Amino acid sequence: MIPEKLYYAAIMEPGKIAVHEMPMPELKADQVLIKVEKINICTTDYQQWAGLRNHQPFPMAAGHEFVGTIAAKGEAVHKQFQIGDRVSAVYESCNVCSDCRHGNTSDCKYKELLPIDANGFHGNKRFATYTVTKQSCLVKVASDIPAEQAAFIEPVATVVQGVKKAKIAPMEDVVVIGAGTMGLLNAQVAKAWGARVIISDIDPKKIARAKEMNIAEVIDSANTDVVEEVKRLTDGKGADCVIAAVGSSIAYKQALSMLKPLRGRFILFPAGYPEPEMDITPNYIHYHRTEIIGTVSANVADWEDASRLISKKLINTGFSLEGKEFALRDIQDAFAAAATPGTYRITVNCQEV
Ligand SMILES: [Zn+2]
Ligand SMILES: [Zn+2]
Repeated sequence: MIPEKLYYAAIMEPGKIAVHEMPMPELKADQVLIKVEKINICTTDYQQWAGLRNHQPFPMAAGHEFVGTIAAKGEAVHKQFQIGDRVSAVYESCNVCSDCRHGNTSDCKYKELLPIDANGFHGNKRFATYTVTKQSCLVKVASDIPAEQAAFIEPVATVVQGVKKAKIAPMEDVVVIGAGTMGLLNAQVAKAWGARVIISDIDPKKIARAKEMNIAEVIDSANTDVVEEVKRLTDGKGADCVIAAVGSSIAYKQALSMLKPLRGRFILFPAGYPEPEMDITPNYIHYHRTEIIGTVSANVADWEDASRLISKKLINTGFSLEGKEFALRDIQDAFAAAATPGTYRITVNCQEV
């Protein structure tokens, strides 16, 4: 039975997120209704709530790290999507422009990332009991994985894109700087691609967790010369590829110093605020054939690979959860918890309203 109303949360102003209700929408022919199981709070979500970023308007009813099950489908939805299937939703794209046809769906100029409704609310309303999306946005995820772990499909997709862009190959030495959530996801995906992974951090808690995961050699860069240690671990060669999973000048300096001298590849995974400096000259890049690779967001193909990595348990996303879960009705407390420094991902149970 589909209820007559759905409930969704929206950030009204910095420091305030509240639950609203609306009539259950009518589905268009190519749309599905998803009953949302759980959603994790991304950094971009809570930073807007905390007033740290002004990248999106208010009121903002967004969210993107979620999974749910198909509750209803329009008459034109393909048979591969059935009621009860567990899914997440890729960012919208038109699928007919030149960028989309070249596979770069996240570059689509016609995408409607943050639609606005008749009441002036922006966003796709994923912090919600139910949410609507087009069938072209659906990606299936295994249903035998805990929902809060399956909800990592979007961040994993962004990591997959970076690893593909850097052409990480089997047996290569890949160093990940930063053992936070995104660092450990980068390390696991690089390993799934066949690399031998080394990870560094300065925080004892993150170092301990990285060691527990047993996926990489771990360097405590607060107490060790990380560049020398990478050279030692790679028999003097240096890293084939370095992934900076933190946006800081120190990380960039380390990365460029530990790369192998010729044809090293360097992935700049996150942005840094305030914008960090990077000390490298055009002639250095020229003579050393260095590749500096920017990556952000993910294409539909990356989401498909992320789904496979999670569904077939080729990576573990549970490490970044400390079991902190809030009901949708307590969304304000959930955001306050997410914005507390040192917290891993916070999960919201969308059926508890
Ligand atoms: Zn996110
Ligand atoms: Zn397009």
